[in-house]
Amino acid sequence: MNARILTRGLSRHRLAISCAMFSIALLILGGAQPARAELLRIGDPLCHAVSRSIAPDDTRPSHFVCNGDPDGYQKGTLWLHAALPQGSRDHEDLSLIIHSSRFDRLVVRFIYRDGAVEQQHVRSGNFGTYWRAGGQLAFRAPYRDVPVVAFTLRFDRVASAHLLRMRLVERGEEATQTTGLATLTGAALVLLIVGAIYNASLALAVRQQHAGWQAAWACCMVIWGACWSQLHLFFFPSMAGAVSAQICTGLSCLAITLATLSAVTALEKQHLDAGLRRTALGLTASVCALGIPLSLMRSGPFDMLGNLLGLLVLANLAAVASCIGQAWRRGSSAARRLGGAWALPMIVLASTSFFDADAMFWGGGSQILVLFAAAWQTLWLSAAASRAHARLRTERDVARLAEAKAHELARRDVLTGLPNRRGFMERTCRMLEGLPVSGGLVALLLIDVDWFKSINDVYGHEAGDHVLAAIGRCIAQHENSSCAVCRLGGEEFAMMVTGAEVGNIEQFAQTLRGTLADLSHGDIIGNRMVTVSIGVTASASRVDFGTLYRLADEALYDAKRGGRDQIAIRLDEWAGARRNDRPLFA
Ligand code: GH3
Ligand code: MG
Ligand code: MG
Repeated sequence: MNARILTRGLSRHRLAISCAMFSIALLILGGAQPARAELLRIGDPLCHAVSRSIAPDDTRPSHFVCNGDPDGYQKGTLWLHAALPQGSRDHEDLSLIIHSSRFDRLVVRFIYRDGAVEQQHVRSGNFGTYWRAGGQLAFRAPYRDVPVVAFTLRFDRVASAHLLRMRLVERGEEATQTTGLATLTGAALVLLIVGAIYNASLALAVRQQHAGWQAAWACCMVIWGACWSQLHLFFFPSMAGAVSAQICTGLSCLAITLATLSAVTALEKQHLDAGLRRTALGLTASVCALGIPLSLMRSGPFDMLGNLLGLLVLANLAAVASCIGQAWRRGSSAARRLGGAWALPMIVLASTSFFDADAMFWGGGSQILVLFAAAWQTLWLSAAASRAHARLRTERDVARLAEAKAHELARRDVLTGLPNRRGFMERTCRMLEGLPVSGGLVALLLIDVDWFKSINDVYGHEAGDHVLAAIGRCIAQHENSSCAVCRLGGEEFAMMVTGAEVGNIEQFAQTLRGTLADLSHGDIIGNRMVTVSIGVTASASRVDFGTLYRLADEALYDAKRGGRDQIAIRLDEWAGARRNDRPLFA
């Protein structure tokens, strides 16, 4: 029953996950077309000029270099300039979209055909109204009667010219692109948040190491996504620019480390070579270690360390893929689960190192791909983990059911269906414990079939079994919360009664003896009468079972010696005194 409910819950859960994954696929397909925009690269069409120290505000470079890479700008000023070809498009209505990066200050100057200049600027810590979701800044050339013929960008203390991404778009197109990108980012973040919450609850529920790493990774990705897309600026506008970029670098290295830890710890040790495991962990430690200086530095060998980090990430991915592959080949179920989840993010991460995806996803580029791949991974792992968890719970339910059945069977007599001696002892112990400390009375009746051996001898063992079963059925009718019954073994039965008076017990025993003697076994043993002798005892509720049994057994012998087909009573001192108070007892 439990298992069925779980399975039903799981299929609903699976449906939700499938819908989410289908939406991811649709969104990715929808946004995968290259953004309609003119990509601006250093050298084509951007020319550059450099000042090794921060130049005064009104400085205009005397000439720009249009080939080669700029150098020596990290502690100074970098100017980028592009002249717009006239006539080919309408430059009266354009926007410049610049991806946020590590710089202190950015000044954008739009130059019109009549020589007029419109200037806009942002600085790290204050992006004003220029920031857009998706990690971008949008500068619109104010509309004038004459077209824009050129623009100049001035970056103060930019960390790397190679990381600058810029696009020129028409204003109408800019609205479409930023809306599309904001929608994509929001969708990816929502999926990631759902995955993170789910992973965190799973980690709490199953208390497994890899689930904890997985949850930490998902949370890390959510924060990275919020930081990269700049959505955090709604709440913390002063984090705009370099601080956020630095945090993003640190978080992405941490995310890779956490994902690796979650994958490697999820794989069973016997399915994975220790050397391979150590390699993956060593590589991820290096990624994390390199992430620290890279996220702190504002100048220095930024590009070189960035390239080194890229290589380490690729090597780390390859090591994790090898771990999963090896464990998969050795029959690990965790590896199959991880393989499905990791395949897409690995391909995406690796391919963003080789292919330029900057123009895709309305300018969201590789980051959007990574966000969706992470959402995919977290949802996949959530689904896989809940499936595994549900399977475990189902197996546990089945095992518990079987154990309960075995427990019950071990306490039942097969022939009569009554509890056996073991079941009786457990039940009577519980009954004795539940009685009031003083004042309560407990009685034990030992019932022994008279001359039963002769029934076997005359009518056969099978007939004897039928007689025992009939007596058992009759005794079973008395079983209730204050009366425990059992077949002690052979042709002996027992009853323990609580909450009655001594006189009532005697009457009860007499009635029972008469009922059993009146039982008809005609179809089996003809007219032969089957009688029973009953030994009765009663005592204070705090008596131990051994004493009670000894007294009842002596009483049974009394009944046998007295001629059988009768009851005999032996009371302890306490019950005897109580009996004398009661004239009812004869
Ligand atoms: P008494 O009146 O003194 O109790 O005489 P009795 O014959 O009933 O007692 P005795 O202990 O001599 O014999 C009990 C018999 O019960 C012996 C045994 O073969 C029989 N018996 C025990 N268990 C079973 C059983 O499960 N089925 C059958 N058919 N007989 C059983
Ligand atoms: Mg006997
Ligand atoms: Mg007997």
